[in-house]
Amino acid sequence: MAHANPTPLKRWRSGALPVLGLLVTVLIALHLISSAVQNAEELSRLFVPLLVISVVGLFVLLILIGVNIGQLLLSYRRKVAGSRLTLHMVIVFVALSLAPVTVVYYYSQQFLLQGIDSWFDVQIDQAMEDALGLSRASLDLHKRERLKATQLVLSDLTGSSVAGLSLSLGDLRDRFGAAELSLYDASGAVIAMSNVEPTILVPSQPDASLLKQVREGNDFVSMVPRSEDAQLEVRVLVSDRDRGYFLQALYPTSSAITSLTETVQDSYNRYKELAFLRTSLKSTFTLALALVLLFSLLSAIWVAFFSARHLVAPIIDIAEGTRAIAKGDYDMQLPLPKVRDELGFLVSSFNTMTRRIAQSRDAATSSQRLVEAQRAYLETVLGRLSSGVMALDAEGRIQTANQAAHDILKLDLNHYLGEPVRAMAEVSPQLRQFVEAIQEPVSRELREWREEVKLFGGSGRQVLLCRGTPLAQPDDESVGYALVFDDITMLIKAQRDAAWGEVARRLAHEIKNPLTPIQLSAERLRHKYLSQMSAQDARVLDRATHTIVQQVEAMKEMVNAFSDYARPPKMNAQPLVMDLVVSEVLDLYRSAGLQLRIEVDLGAPDASVEADPVRLRQVIHNLVKNATEAAAEIPDPELEPTIEVVTRVVTESESRFVELRVSDNGPGFDNDTLSHLFEPYVTTKAKGTGLGLAIVKKITEEHSGEVWAENRDGRGASLFLRLPVVSVEGSAPAAAKAEGERR
Ligand code: ADP
Repeated sequence: MAHANPTPLKRWRSGALPVLGLLVTVLIALHLISSAVQNAEELSRLFVPLLVISVVGLFVLLILIGVNIGQLLLSYRRKVAGSRLTLHMVIVFVALSLAPVTVVYYYSQQFLLQGIDSWFDVQIDQAMEDALGLSRASLDLHKRERLKATQLVLSDLTGSSVAGLSLSLGDLRDRFGAAELSLYDASGAVIAMSNVEPTILVPSQPDASLLKQVREGNDFVSMVPRSEDAQLEVRVLVSDRDRGYFLQALYPTSSAITSLTETVQDSYNRYKELAFLRTSLKSTFTLALALVLLFSLLSAIWVAFFSARHLVAPIIDIAEGTRAIAKGDYDMQLPLPKVRDELGFLVSSFNTMTRRIAQSRDAATSSQRLVEAQRAYLETVLGRLSSGVMALDAEGRIQTANQAAHDILKLDLNHYLGEPVRAMAEVSPQLRQFVEAIQEPVSRELREWREEVKLFGGSGRQVLLCRGTPLAQPDDESVGYALVFDDITMLIKAQRDAAWGEVARRLAHEIKNPLTPIQLSAERLRHKYLSQMSAQDARVLDRATHTIVQQVEAMKEMVNAFSDYARPPKMNAQPLVMDLVVSEVLDLYRSAGLQLRIEVDLGAPDASVEADPVRLRQVIHNLVKNATEAAAEIPDPELEPTIEVVTRVVTESESRFVELRVSDNGPGFDNDTLSHLFEPYVTTKAKGTGLGLAIVKKITEEHSGEVWAENRDGRGASLFLRLPVVSVEGSAPAAAKAEGERR
């Protein structure tokens, strides 16, 4: 059983897994990209490699699909089975997926860009600025309060003695909530100090430039990070110009204010940063979106290819199968698809159908072969029949004719197949009687008729015995007519010859009986009255009786020949060497002393024939006599009358014959004589009986031989005689030899 080869379309299916893997990889990469774009710290580092992976993946996918589209277009141009349908389905799939994906992409991009723009709205911008301003104002206020408090502390210290300063400082520090208060003189040396931590005895000294600035009358207030834990504190420095003191106060700030301020600052910074990156953010999002779109589109095309080919593959198989069936290949079996859906059912039905067709084709072939064999057999049988057989259809048109029919009608009937029978008569007028004879019973559909038809044509008279019968089917509906005919010319002739021979024999007998008494009576009359009569009467009587005797003699001779011809064959056959018999007959002619040249060439000294010696001698004698008489007719005295006698052995279609040829240089045959030469009573001679050659033919046929005559090229005639050879021994058979010796 033949199976359809896997097509390129089908082979493509096996490569589905790697492509599926590629698609999943690209999908994951795109997902990570989208997360990275949303600024997950750890992923933003991977942004570029992920982008590269996605782009490369999509590029590979694009090449793959491009190659596939190229192959598909090539198959389409080459009209590969299924390529049209695949292309059609791919176009439909792609069109179906392209429209929604494009719409989604367009609006997504619009939303995205508008969303990003809305983040950087003017109001938000202002709010951020305001928040920052607010936090700064609140800090200023805080610092100013601290400055005022410190100035109050300094004025409260004005009345204190130097000794009570440290004590007062401690009280004041507690009252104003400072972390440390320290008093310096004009040179910057510490006069007194108080710290929240009693263990701290050394104040955090302000640097010289700061002291110089304060000494000049500029009070100082600032937020500075604490040296030990970097937490912000408010440092205030005020001077008492009258006494030349400086007071430094350190106040802790509230943690809420600090953190809020920091948050505001951070948010502001981040906002500014984002605003700065706004364009690149937009393009990143657009890029990610475009990649997702491309991914969707390519996967849709790929899925379109995959499913189109998956759907089309069994259809291609069926198309190939149908084409194979159209070419006459019924042995093709299609591979069954793995999925047993309607297409699978179609394929298995197709296989069943081809199997059935193949079976019925085999059955049809074998029955056709049987019919052919029967037809050939029938044709052989008809071809070997000696009777002519012709079949006519219901309308009387010739359907078939066997070889014997061609031979008997002397017409190539193959040219008349399918033609009505009268067409034969139009071309060959001598067949008119035949056509007329059969037309009537055929048209009337006569059953079992027979009729004798006589035809007269260039080749002579021909008698046909025709029989016919309608060809009827079992339901008695006529489908034509069968004609059988035989050429019975020879049969009739033989019958007539036999009948005529019998009549002739009896007639000869009856005629011969009174001839001798007539002859004797005439002689007696002559003998008795001749001497008694006058000379004149005696002369009359003499002539009359002489004529009677002569005519009776001639009549006897004729009657003898007549009875010879009519004599029933009573053969005394024995093996004879033809050459011996011929030379024996020729010896008679040589000794007769004729004015004749006899040329002899006996070339078959060893060939024997089975023959009656008396009759064979008669045949040869007749032939030589005719030749001698013909040669004697030469009007030209210059020309010597010559006869030629030749024998030879001839082999024809594996049969061997002795051929005798007797030729002369006489006048030859005229055409009329030649065509009837061997019939009785054909003669050109005044005293001829016309029975000589008829007897020759009869005897020859009795010896299974043949005889024929030809005119010679130059002048004269030839007669040929052929008898079958019985043996070509080294020595002649005893009987012939004995005869030969006797001579
Ligand atoms: P017959 O000799 O009595 O006439 P045949 O049967 O022997 O009868 O011959 C028939 C005729 O054939 C002859 O009359 C003659 O015209 C012709 N014929 C026979 N042999 C020859 C020959 N060798 N040459 C020419 N004509 C011949």
